[in-house]
This record gives sequence, structure tokens and C-alpha cells, in this order.
Amino acid sequence: MAEGPRIAATQALKDLMEGRFRSLDAASRDPERRVAWCTSVGPVELLLAFGFEVYFPENHGAMLGATRKANQYIPRAIAEGYSPDICSYLTSDVGAFLAGETPLADAYGLAGVPKPDVLVYNTNQCRDVQDWFSFYGRRWGLPVLGIQTHRGVGEVTDAHVDSVALQIEALCEPLGKIAGHPLDHARLEGVVDASRETSRLWRAVLETGAHRPSALSFFDGAIHMGPAVIARATQEANDYYRILLDELSGRVEKGLGAVPGERYRLYWEGMPVWGRLRALSSLFLELKACVVASTYCNSWVFEALDPKDPFRSMARAAVELFIVRSEDEKEKTLAEMVRRYDVDGIIFHDAKTCPNNSNSRYGMPGRLSKKLGIPTLTFQGDVNDLRLYSDEQTVTNIEAFVEQLADRPHA
Ligand code: SF4
Repeated sequence: MAEGPRIAATQALKDLMEGRFRSLDAASRDPERRVAWCTSVGPVELLLAFGFEVYFPENHGAMLGATRKANQYIPRAIAEGYSPDICSYLTSDVGAFLAGETPLADAYGLAGVPKPDVLVYNTNQCRDVQDWFSFYGRRWGLPVLGIQTHRGVGEVTDAHVDSVALQIEALCEPLGKIAGHPLDHARLEGVVDASRETSRLWRAVLETGAHRPSALSFFDGAIHMGPAVIARATQEANDYYRILLDELSGRVEKGLGAVPGERYRLYWEGMPVWGRLRALSSLFLELKACVVASTYCNSWVFEALDPKDPFRSMARAAVELFIVRSEDEKEKTLAEMVRRYDVDGIIFHDAKTCPNNSNSRYGMPGRLSKKLGIPTLTFQGDVNDLRLYSDEQTVTNIEAFVEQLADRPHA
């Protein structure tokens, strides 16, 4: 398989991830420490301010996909009564749990996923996370706390923000009981400030993709976003992104691209196909096409965070997310991304078990193509369930799509 230029910061990334999981493992076995599970765009800042070590099951789902173990476990969850049509992160994670296995064992030597004291979700991304956490809550008899966020939001209003902020504030009482102490407001402000810094740095990393040639591809981004998801608001995440940004800025200065000889610039809309990340990266390298930006990697940029107004700004960040927004708002955001990153075409991944993050189902590719004058390609696949993905068809479609770009005058 073709390989792109190596990112030297990758070793620091591996060290950071290993450190996080070892710390989580130690916390889950220490009666003095508390572990919370949180959804990937949930209220992590509040949990950190209470002193919880925070674990993100979606990251575990992605690991199951990337290690191509998901299809081994999904049938276990189906046998438990979970439909093959629902989120394959959920079914592979629950299936792995029922099988008593985890990729954290091979990667970091953990005996199992770190057992929590509480599970906290936000439905801003989908309802599946609530049902996912409820499985474990029932299993272990643990509290499952949550925030219900509006969906399909057009303009974000004070009413949206207030209703979510009140729900976040209402978590303080039960979390304080589990943590054994009340919230330290100064600490929360510090965590929100650090989280805002993670977002700022992660966004700067992603924006190196706007240069020609792009310093970063979506496939690199999907790996290097790990700290923005599982370690945001921590010193080590911020230190790591400074190292990465420095390296990528060096690439920009020297005119080095993530795809040597970059000829085409593409946008990736939707979830990754975790089990084919490497194969697809290699395919685009061979085609001299760089996927320069994506909705997915941008989903961990929380512009609204403000330490002076922690609850409302956390609420605003949760509601302003792309996945929460109306079709019209999503369309505006995508049009802006296409212009900012000077993109030649958009690839829509229609992930069968994640309708929440598949945006090709209500006519958007056609509307955007017409509005922006660029072609789009929609392929059928899935985030984790490779039975729903065809290598042959996808490769053929992508090759034909890129060929079509070659025939266009401006490409
Ligand atoms: S957004 Fe999609 S992949 Fe993520 S938890 Fe929800 S259904 Fe699963």
C-alpha cells in the first residue's frame, strides 16, 4: 500500500494515548479515584472539573473498527437483542464487552475497559449514545445521567442555549455526590479555558489543510484527532498539538504536502470507514488526490467555549455542533468549507448504521453540486460494519470520480 510522508509527531501521539489509558486503568482500580464515561461531544469539562478520569466509549468503538475486530463482535450484540441497523460503534462495543475482549489489551495491556462510577451522555449527536450507556448502566447498576439536546437546529437561540445550560448545571448535584465534593467553580473555569485552547490548536492543525499542497489529509487527521476527543482540556493534549502544529507549519513553509504531487483537493463528508482507513488513504495517495478537510475532524472544534461563562458556553458549543444543525445550516457550513479549502469535489459517505452523521439522504449532494459547481460522489458504507461496505464498488467509484475531476478545466 502506498504510504504518505510520515508525521514525526506520531510517536508523541502514541505516548499520549498510552498515558491516558494507563491513567484511566489505574483510576478504575483505585477506590479513592472516580471514573466517568462520557460521549465524545458530551460535558467533559464538567466531569474533569469534578476530578473524574474520563473515558470515551466512542473512541473504543473506533478502535474496534480500525483493528477490524468489529465484525467479530457485532453478532454478540445482535444476539442480545440489538438491531444490526443501529450504530455499529454501539453493537461492536457491546459485543466486545459481552465477549470479554478489548483492543486496549493488545494496545496498552489493559485487562478490560475501565469500569466507571457514572456514565454521562449528551444526545446532541444521536439517541444511540443514551441507549449505549444505558446498557452498561443496567449491567453494572450505575447511574446514567444525560443531557437532551435539540436536533435539526437552524439559528442557535438563547432558548436553545438556556435549556442545555440548565441541564448541565443540574448534573452538578448528582455528580457532586458521586465525586464526594461540590463543584469548584474556579476549577471549571480553568478546565473550560484549557478546552478552548485544545480547540484553538486543533483547528489550527486542521487549517494547515487549506494550504496548497495541503499539509494534512483527512486520514492523518482521523488519527491525530485522538487527543482532541479523549484528552481535550488537558495540558498533554495542548502540548501535543503545539508539537504537531509546529511540524505541519514546517511542511507549509517548505511546500510539502500530505499527498506528494497533489493534483486534486477533496472534502470528506460523514464518518470514516475505520476498517478501511489505511486502504482508502493509500488509494487517494495513488490518485494524487488529497482529502484536505472533513466534517468529522472539524466536529471537535468548540469555538463557543468561554471560561467567563462556563455553563452557557458549554451549552452553546454543544448546540452549535454541525451534527445538531438543520439541513440548511449544514449546507451553509459545507459551502463555506469548500470555499475555504478550495475543494474540487465532495465525497459523501452514507454510513448505513449512522444516519445521524450521513448527510446525503435529503438531497444535499445535488443541491451543493449545483450551488458550488463541483461534482459530488456518494458511496454506501459504514463506520464499523464492513459487511455494509464493498471494497470493489467503492474503489471503482472513487477512481471514476477522480478521473472525472481530471476532465474538468479548473482541476
Ligand atoms: S453519531 Fe453515529 S457513530 Fe456516533 S454514536 Fe451516534 S450513531 Fe454511532
